[in-house]
Amino acid sequence: MQKVTIIGHGPAGLTAAIYTARAGLDPLVLSSSSELGQLDQTTDVENFPGFPDGIMGPEIIVNMHKQAEKFGAKFKISHVLEISGNGPYTLKTDSGEIQSQTIIIATGAKPKKLGLKSEEKYWGQGVTACAVCDGFFYKGLDIVVIGGGDSACEEAIYLTKFASKVTLIHRRDKLRASKVMADKVKAHPKVDILWNKTVKEVLGNENDGVTGALLTDTVTSKESQISFSGFFLSIGHIPNTGFLGNFVNKDEEGYVIVESGTTKTSKEGIFSAGDLSDKVYRQAITAAGQGCMSALDSERYIAEKS
Ligand code: NAP
Repeated sequence: MQKVTIIGHGPAGLTAAIYTARAGLDPLVLSSSSELGQLDQTTDVENFPGFPDGIMGPEIIVNMHKQAEKFGAKFKISHVLEISGNGPYTLKTDSGEIQSQTIIIATGAKPKKLGLKSEEKYWGQGVTACAVCDGFFYKGLDIVVIGGGDSACEEAIYLTKFASKVTLIHRRDKLRASKVMADKVKAHPKVDILWNKTVKEVLGNENDGVTGALLTDTVTSKESQISFSGFFLSIGHIPNTGFLGNFVNKDEEGYVIVESGTTKTSKEGIFSAGDLSDKVYRQAITAAGQGCMSALDSERYIAEKS
């Protein structure tokens, strides 16, 4: 019987592992071999405190893993298929069953993508889904933001701090964003909006990375080309919570609902930390903070039950 099982190998799961290992709870961290986390797919990270010269995303993960291992956390590549029980819980995985008194779910979220080969090819070389992480690299350059929701508008405005020009590309002639956000973006002198356009291909080359995109007009089917250096996708996120079914309460978009100010889910002894419960901040440092909270919540729960 495990005291704590952590699902997820990102900043939330690994911070939870460091804290629960130091508390003597012998955590087991499960991660899926097939899915890389968001930090594992990132290059330079300049906003994680403590690294004044920046650090590569995968290096943060390796360092956090080593730190948790040093305090006794165990790791297993294992894909969780289902959780059942009433506490203790059973985790059904692709390599057998695990019984655990508490579970910290830290499986994260993934940005929605357009599904283009060229988008994958230039991922991290001009194509990104995080304005806060990568905007700084586009000082004085032209960029585009894809999407028409609140995130796309917010990110377009945020990116004007760095870019010389931001073009918002939306597939319809009306923004999905709230009126306040839509009005702000429409009025912004550094933001242009291209209506009724979808991206057919991201254009680029090995030396320069992204250089532009080929667009299709959704009304006339006419193709056009636009030049820029940064391609910011902002068409929503998908929390990695499908395997939970209805076992814990989720909102209509699949995000795990936690009790305000805690990481407690609707099931006693099951905690949720990181982007699978957070559609607002979505940062490595906030995920790590929630990982710490989930470890303390779990530690308290175990102490109360013993
Ligand atoms: P969202 O509201 O779902 O908007 C996604 C946008 O991407 C939509 O405009 C959608 O177009 C477009 N899109 C989706 N798939 C696409 C595709 N394959 N190709 C081209 N465009 C595509 O997502 P979000 O903006 O990330 O917001 C998520 C939630 O967080 C929302 O409830 C939002 O209000 C909230 N939020 C709030 C704030 C705030 O209040 N400050 C900030 C950020 C987010 P269509 O419009 O044509 O469907």
